[in-house]
Amino acid sequence: MTIQLNDMGLLKTRAFINGQWVDADSGETFAVTNPATGELLAEVASVGAVETRRAIEAAETAMQDWKARPAAERAQFLKRWYALVMDNQQDLAKLMTLEQGKVLAESVGEVAYGASFIEWFAEEARRVYGDVLSLPQTDRRGVVIKQPVGVVGAITPWNFPNAMITRKAAPALAVGCGIVLKPASETPLSALALAELADRAGLPAGLFSVVPGRSSREIGGELTSNPTVKKVTFTGSTPVGKTLMKQCADTVKRTSMELGGNAPVIIFDDADLDQAIQGALISKFRNSGQTCICANRILVQDSIYDTFMEKFVAAVKDFRIGNGLDSESTHGPVVTAKAAQDIDAMVKSAVEDGAQVLVGGQIDDQGECFYQPTILGNVNDQMRVFREEIFGPVAPVFRFSTEAQAIAMANDTEFGLASYLYTRDIGRVWRVSEGIEYGMVGVNEVAISADVIPFGGVKESGQGREGSKYGLDDYLEVKYICMGGLNG
Ligand code: NAP
Repeated sequence: MTIQLNDMGLLKTRAFINGQWVDADSGETFAVTNPATGELLAEVASVGAVETRRAIEAAETAMQDWKARPAAERAQFLKRWYALVMDNQQDLAKLMTLEQGKVLAESVGEVAYGASFIEWFAEEARRVYGDVLSLPQTDRRGVVIKQPVGVVGAITPWNFPNAMITRKAAPALAVGCGIVLKPASETPLSALALAELADRAGLPAGLFSVVPGRSSREIGGELTSNPTVKKVTFTGSTPVGKTLMKQCADTVKRTSMELGGNAPVIIFDDADLDQAIQGALISKFRNSGQTCICANRILVQDSIYDTFMEKFVAAVKDFRIGNGLDSESTHGPVVTAKAAQDIDAMVKSAVEDGAQVLVGGQIDDQGECFYQPTILGNVNDQMRVFREEIFGPVAPVFRFSTEAQAIAMANDTEFGLASYLYTRDIGRVWRVSEGIEYGMVGVNEVAISADVIPFGGVKESGQGREGSKYGLDDYLEVKYICMGGLNG
């Protein structure tokens, strides 16, 4: 075994269903590998529809008692889970770097970020308020209450193997739902370690099951068709999100979708240039460009374009890619060799159409999962790097001349998740923030995520919001009760 943790009990390779660690009925497993080295990390149980159905039934049974408890009591379990996650931050971070590749400092940060949702929703669930309505008739009153939506099916991606889970599981559990989670096949170990800690926190059996499996269609098929599941929450790519929404239509399930992005970073000529460069570097290259809110298109105003490029290229040349566990590495590998090849194909296609590689531009000698941090100049809006989500460490930098042109370029995409602008003109801040079609806008700031903010997109980037006081809404049904006969 190549994994060494302080607490080896966190290394789980079986599915967690109804409070039990179980093998797949078929006995099948799938391999989890380290993208930095290619080493086999673990063989994990590969479950299918039958085991998923068992987990759904267990969640339905378990939530009957759970939802009847006071919110404050449910919160106690979540607070214990939060404390255990933070107590084991280093081990969870190491597991994450091993299976996903991001540098250890980013993994440590993600564990704290993921835990913050558990704490936030433990507190927020006590503030699920209803309404009393004044009706047109004097002999009756209207009351609105909120109730847990029912069993939740969740499917999560590999790029944030911890936080994308807690952002769904914590609000679902906090309001009284049970949840069945299918983690990404690249990163099941982080999900299973979270389940182990939830178990240690005393969470009743069945409320939080984890069903890893190579056949995501089969598990997803069960989660989206089983009538006991009342809501499906998904974070991942837009094409898969669309498929899941279609599948959910047959049983009219509620859905929340956190899908792909194509974030613009708009840098105006009145911006603090060094601050803007720093922001673009962080936003573009964090997690080696594999976040849904990563800068995808950097739009720079004509008059500062050349100066921006000079400094931007110099900064990227200082990056040091390598194994995420090596403290000298500033950036790790991308998640798979296939991901590196896809990124390379996108760069090659841009170059064929006239783009200029200013730094990087190829798979690195360090290994098949390492893609060199890359900057592309002489790019245009017809190229794939403008139209598609790059999901890798490649920064195409576009020119614009007017504010109106910048807004039009920013909006020229079917995506609408995160966006950023750099300017010191307060009027422009408002005009552009209101004019661009995105769920989130960072003004002179790219570190926009936190437990307290409503994270989510518009257009084909999804629906629903995670985190913040709005993050509970997706797990609650609104019920209206008419109270009549009041006139004695
Ligand atoms: P993905 O291919 O859509 O996979 C995401 C999850 O869906 C994985 O668990 C995957 O399982 C599962 N899946 C794939 N096909 C499925 C199907 N037919 N039925 C049911 N489940 C299925 O996305 P990814 O490559 O892991 O993640 C990258 C994408 O996620 C990017 O587009 C990124 O922008 C987006 N993302 C969005 C947010 C946000 O908050 N908006 C946050 C993070 C990431 P397997 O791994 O087993 O295939």
